Amino acid sequence: MSRRLRALLVLGTMSAIAVVMWMTVGRRPAEPPVRHVILFTLDTTRADRIGAYGASAARTPTLDALAARGVRFDDAQTSAPITGPAHAAIFTGVYPARYGVRDNATTPLPERATTMAERLSEAGFATGGFIGAFVLDRAFGFAQGFAAFSGFDTVDSGSEANAERVGAAVVADAIRWIDTVPRAQPLFLWVHLYDPHAPYSAPAPFGAEFAANPYDGEVAYVDQQIGRVLDALRLRGSLEDSLVIVVADHGESLGEHGEDEHGVFLYESVIRVPLIVAGPQARRGHVVTEQVRTVDLMPTVLDLLGLAATAEFDGESLRSVLNGGRRRVVPPAYAESYYPKLHYGWSELRALRADGWKIIDAPTPELFAIGKDPGETTNLFQAQRALGDRMVAEVVRLEQSFTGGRAPEAAAPSRETLERLRSLGYVGTSAPTVTGGDRGPDPKDRIEERRTFKQLMTEAIDDLRGNRLDDAVRKLRDLVRINDRAYDLHQLLGEAYQRQGRMRDALGEFEMAALLNPAVAAPHLSAAELLLASGDIDAARSRLETAATLDPGSFDVALVTGLLLEAERRPAEAADAYARAIAVNPANPRPRMRLIGVASELKRFDVAEREARTLLDRDYRPSRMHLTLGGLAQLQGRTAEAAQHYREALRLEPGLAMAEQALRQLR
Ligand SMILES: [Zn+2]
Repeated sequence: MSRRLRALLVLGTMSAIAVVMWMTVGRRPAEPPVRHVILFTLDTTRADRIGAYGASAARTPTLDALAARGVRFDDAQTSAPITGPAHAAIFTGVYPARYGVRDNATTPLPERATTMAERLSEAGFATGGFIGAFVLDRAFGFAQGFAAFSGFDTVDSGSEANAERVGAAVVADAIRWIDTVPRAQPLFLWVHLYDPHAPYSAPAPFGAEFAANPYDGEVAYVDQQIGRVLDALRLRGSLEDSLVIVVADHGESLGEHGEDEHGVFLYESVIRVPLIVAGPQARRGHVVTEQVRTVDLMPTVLDLLGLAATAEFDGESLRSVLNGGRRRVVPPAYAESYYPKLHYGWSELRALRADGWKIIDAPTPELFAIGKDPGETTNLFQAQRALGDRMVAEVVRLEQSFTGGRAPEAAAPSRETLERLRSLGYVGTSAPTVTGGDRGPDPKDRIEERRTFKQLMTEAIDDLRGNRLDDAVRKLRDLVRINDRAYDLHQLLGEAYQRQGRMRDALGEFEMAALLNPAVAAPHLSAAELLLASGDIDAARSRLETAATLDPGSFDVALVTGLLLEAERRPAEAADAYARAIAVNPANPRPRMRLIGVASELKRFDVAEREARTLLDRDYRPSRMHLTLGGLAQLQGRTAEAAQHYREALRLEPGLAMAEQALRQLR
């Protein structure tokens, strides 16, 4: 094929894509053959580590059997190498940039998005979502449409918020839920299994058996967990008419192209994902070799259920492909990562894959003949310059069509500002890593640094946990030297300084973090708390006001407002603020602890007792809660009850001095 012809072909295909308007109205089979929809999203799972995809060392009998009785997509493409955006695409059928979903946790899926769960719920399905990572929690929009949703509402016994759940716990919740749904009702079940995400430490027996390849051990574990859900459906008699979809949100680099995990690059190791669909209307044992995309899943599910599509999708139904057909036009696949930009101040990446070609738009673009070079080893951009330029123009145009040209920008302070702050001793001593041009450095040129960075970061966080503050600070300062544009790093260094009692240095780092990312409230909130602790109420108030403008209605703003009001000796209003914080995040024990204090001060013992009992029910520091409940009972003259609580506190924590003392006083 001539170069010119090839280029025309690529362009012709591209013009057919961007938005597919679904005009299908009320096409409804007499008897919908698909009754239940079961969606598994596997975090961080590479296709080529699954037996059905040719991995000989894999132990994935469930997935292999599923592929044998259904359709295995050999070339499925995700839209982002990051959990939140990738899931947003699966659930909405549109590229996540349209909804501004470009990072984990900080860019939630907005309420105006219509999700698969919302459509199926409207259609009468019982909807249950069960997740393994907090980045998909209710707060980030992923519970939309789920009547039952098992996220991260429980309190860990420690004070740190928990961030992930092991697959067995997610699956246990899912199976319990399945048993509660009346048999007459169709199910839409979503199970998200986070386990293959780093660090790789699969539960027994997989951890030991895959000691040499721990990542494969996690994949084997996940396979087993999927099997448990399918068994539960089989027992219920629901498996035969279930459409079972297994897809990964993204893969894992495992060292390829210099990346250990995922998030920065758009190479096949993270963008090509496993996709297996089994059940009614999926041709048994069929393998689809043409390119499909995770944005195709939402339109496919609606189409198979005979539900009219009401939204504009970027994806298109794979119904014909599932039945063994081939499409005349295979639409290109778009992917992007703003992770390097949002976290490191490096250039964002965009990719487009069409007709055997893949462009990765970066400061140094890469063009791969992806069919012949799946390992993406030979950059043909210079050799095929005309095609490369055209594909770059197209991928840029596509992104702009998704966002209207509104790119999320992590603000870059001027060099002068950086110098000023550095002269105050707040940042590393090296020059900022900017190579010119407003895109920032090419992540390819920084990936070795990032490897060192991640290693040091892991060690620094371990040091912080182990209270080795000097070591932690030294490493954090080294990290800042590698990349002083990462606002979260400055935030962390500020927190370390704070724990060392170096208040001025801590404030400087929070200041730096706020400058690097003026959209985040966290540095202002940290600064406000620090200023409150050092008695500077006016300065704290001003920081809190800034934070409240940036993130009104947030948990942290309500919490710190409570702290400020307490400092201003306005306990009744503080109690209201803590109640607001609790309403936003019932799982966090901190506002409940503060509320116990101010409610006691206000002699609202009922409120204080209610909060203490809630924390006790959630197993939060039980000995301390009994001590608190004892104190509250004693204040109200119920001495026998008080003694009981003190004794229980001592039973749980022998030698607890405050409980011993209180008991002595009672006698
Ligand atoms: Zn993920």
